[in-house]
Amino acid sequence: MDYSKLRFSTRQIHAGLDHNPETGSRGVAIYPTAAYRFKSCDYAANLFELSEPGNIYTRLQNPTSSAYEQRIAALYGAVGALAVASGMSAILIAVTALASEGDNIVTSPYLYGGTYNLFRHSLRRLGIEVRIAASETPADIAALVDDRTRAIFVESMGNPTCNVPDLESIAKVAHDKQVPLIVDNTFGAGGYLCNPFEWGANIVVDSATKWINGHGTAMGGIIVDGGNFDWSCGKFPGIDGPDEGYHGLNLYKTFGNAAFIVKCRVDGLRDFGASPSAFDSYLMMLGLETLSLRVRHEVESTRRLAEYLRNLPKVKKVSYVGFEDHPGHENAAKYYRFGASAVLNVELQGDVDSTVKFVEALKLAAHMTMIGDSITVVTHPASTTHKQLSKADLAAAGVTPTLLRISLGLEDVEDIIEDFEQAFSHVG
Ligand SMILES: *Cc1c(COP(=O)(O)O)cnc(C)c1O
Repeated sequence: MDYSKLRFSTRQIHAGLDHNPETGSRGVAIYPTAAYRFKSCDYAANLFELSEPGNIYTRLQNPTSSAYEQRIAALYGAVGALAVASGMSAILIAVTALASEGDNIVTSPYLYGGTYNLFRHSLRRLGIEVRIAASETPADIAALVDDRTRAIFVESMGNPTCNVPDLESIAKVAHDKQVPLIVDNTFGAGGYLCNPFEWGANIVVDSATKWINGHGTAMGGIIVDGGNFDWSCGKFPGIDGPDEGYHGLNLYKTFGNAAFIVKCRVDGLRDFGASPSAFDSYLMMLGLETLSLRVRHEVESTRRLAEYLRNLPKVKKVSYVGFEDHPGHENAAKYYRFGASAVLNVELQGDVDSTVKFVEALKLAAHMTMIGDSITVVTHPASTTHKQLSKADLAAAGVTPTLLRISLGLEDVEDIIEDFEQAFSHVG
């Protein structure tokens, strides 16, 4: 079926269901199997040579995960998707599929704390240099690109500051320099709030743990291939060149514009082993069925909470992209459906101690490091997600001691506002 003609909410339910004629099953089946019996030795040989598609071993593929991947690809209008064990493994696999020792990638400075550590420390140990631009303007990013650059990396909304880069202009820089643009679209909620491919991005990574799953029940990551990059440009011998792991097979000549996602599967799953379980892929698919409904409710609740907080004397600053005074407001209006996300930041009056007291007084809102959950989450980045960063790096990432990141859940927002009211009564 051609899903491209259908709207988002229809695709999120129908894409990836196989309509098994034998069972008539409405839902996708969970295949708790490690391996698959081969029909014949010839068939098995074809699978191993990638000359025929099929299941070999769950480290490489699983029918439940394949159905989930098809649904994701349909939601993004992409040529293919790969489900992996976490958002972090999605980033690691996408970057290392492109960059090797001696190469570099160029990134925006506004990064999720885990990504920052991966880039600053672990990738460096592998000999991949990560160049962090002074800002996320297209000019600052372009200035760091050289002939060893193999990707530009940005988040479609920075975690935690909620700034929104000018995706279209950054995609133009990437295109001019002949390097792919990778967008971490976790805040874009599986493509519902933001679809970076519409603006020229080439690759999307997404922490499915967040809005795709939507209920805080499983870890997962997804890599999505827009199929819109010219891998024959000479910079990517791992994709357009002989693959030693497959007797010299050329992935680009064999798989055409889907070569990148195949590369991610063979490196990331076959070699690095970051495979998801069938049950977790099932949970992701189930979560996707209500993605747009959940996100719409959360975006509306976020706006209501932002308006409530804005007028309080105990609040120093509300930082919400839906408000005109937010630096990301204009870009959010362009790149995000509803011009906003389901996350806001608030800086309280006081210091670290009074902020901790406030957080601990909350009863409904959960103090966790999480976003996109059905439970409203309040995170204190300075003592959690960004604790490993130095003072200078904290300042660069926009994290202050009383900053709270709030990710609205599916509760009635009036109850969340009342919870905040009672927690404020505990701080002076
Ligand atoms: C959570 C998150 C990640 C990491 O994803 P995990 O599933 O926790 O590994 C990466 N990027 C962003 C923007 C995130 O919010």
